[in-house]
Amino acid sequence: MIVVMRTGATGDEIDEVRRTIEEHSLEAFLSVGEERTVIGVVGPDVERVEHIHSLPGVEQVIRVSKPYKLASREHHPDRTRVKVGSVEIGAGAPLRVMAGPCSVESREQVSATARWVRREGASVLRGGAFKPRTSPYQFQGLGIEGLELLAEAGAGTGLPVVSEVTDPGQVEVFDQHVDMLQVGSRNMHNFVLLRAVGQSSKPVLLKRGFGATIEEWLMAAEYILSSGNPNVILCERGIRTFEPSTRNTLDLTAVPVLRELTHLPIVIDPSHGTGHRSLVRPMALAAAAVGADGLIIEVHPDPPRARSDADQSLSFPEFGDLMDDLRRLEYLREPVAAVAPPSVAAPVELERLRDRIDDVDARLAALLEERAHLAVAVQQTRSSGDHGHDVARERALLERAAASEGSVLSAQEREMVFGSILRASRSAQRRSSAAAEKTAGIEVAASGSGPAA
Ligand code: PEP
Ligand code: MN
Repeated sequence: MIVVMRTGATGDEIDEVRRTIEEHSLEAFLSVGEERTVIGVVGPDVERVEHIHSLPGVEQVIRVSKPYKLASREHHPDRTRVKVGSVEIGAGAPLRVMAGPCSVESREQVSATARWVRREGASVLRGGAFKPRTSPYQFQGLGIEGLELLAEAGAGTGLPVVSEVTDPGQVEVFDQHVDMLQVGSRNMHNFVLLRAVGQSSKPVLLKRGFGATIEEWLMAAEYILSSGNPNVILCERGIRTFEPSTRNTLDLTAVPVLRELTHLPIVIDPSHGTGHRSLVRPMALAAAAVGADGLIIEVHPDPPRARSDADQSLSFPEFGDLMDDLRRLEYLREPVAAVAPPSVAAPVELERLRDRIDDVDARLAALLEERAHLAVAVQQTRSSGDHGHDVARERALLERAAASEGSVLSAQEREMVFGSILRASRSAQRRSSAAAEKTAGIEVAASGSGPAA
């Protein structure tokens, strides 16, 4: 920290500043110029003498290092990887997707969602049990019962779970039920809560306050870190601006900005960030492209009937489509095989050639239908917890397609065709699976064995 004295500050004023610095066990280095004196302050926690700016003769106090030490990259240049259950997030780990309902509403709702998101490749299950709602008349969450149902759905699918804690007194019970504690946007400035989660042994997902600057957010992280918990993940969920077409303005620049300032992992929440189902997918893809370590997405079996955040929750098929697109981004990052040299056949009789093309198209349509039937049969034969498609086999197929030599189609064109076939098959599988889930739900309701929502 540097203290700049006013021009003409007296010797007594300068001495008083120096004494104050030394009284706090810090060192003062004076640099006496022709017009003014500048004093360098060195030592741990220089913020303790920030009040110097109000002493007589002081013009300005300039902070040189970041006010957040434990969170800063300055003091911790290597990026941190945080473990949530067995899932690692940040510092070179693959993009992780956390997904689940805004609120836990019933056993059926959260367990069906858990099975679905796991099958589509999510790594962590989310679900609110204590909901910080704007109105006291809105659904407030199922409380402890919600936490228990979430934990049960997590255990049933093998997914670690995250849920929002709203009161310091809840930390103990959260520690027993969840793998990560979420501090919501409305509580980012709740310093008592920040200190309480700082004493938890579980990692913390710290959402950005909707009116907070990045520095204030990092200072909130500092509260948790300095209370003894080193496992903090930051979550950008949109800030309030003058723009009314979205619920919040999703600040994706926060990702590269935070990369420079902090070593902590960064997750993006495009659900709360936009407030609209149709905007979740594009912003999730943008977040992945800009280098987020993870995404957190709201998914519901029947979005229009969700008891909170219905407008921004994705349906099962919509979530599946998003995951497909994210997977395709991974493909794009892989090196593309060299383009095979084209071999052009000389055209003979136009009519005869067109007839043959029609014939091939008819056979292709029949083959596609056959493939989709087989894919749906595979889906129905699998146990319900299995991942809906075998990513390794799909990759192998695309790699084979890209590697065939001597084809008229380029590697990218063949990849494009096979990619579309795979997406269409998955989409048919998903529809069949969603219909089966619905039937199972109706049967449970009819038998009266499920608890009421
Ligand atoms: C939530 O994740 O359900 C939530 C309430 O988020 P936020 O604190 O970002 O509004
Ligand atoms: Mn929500």
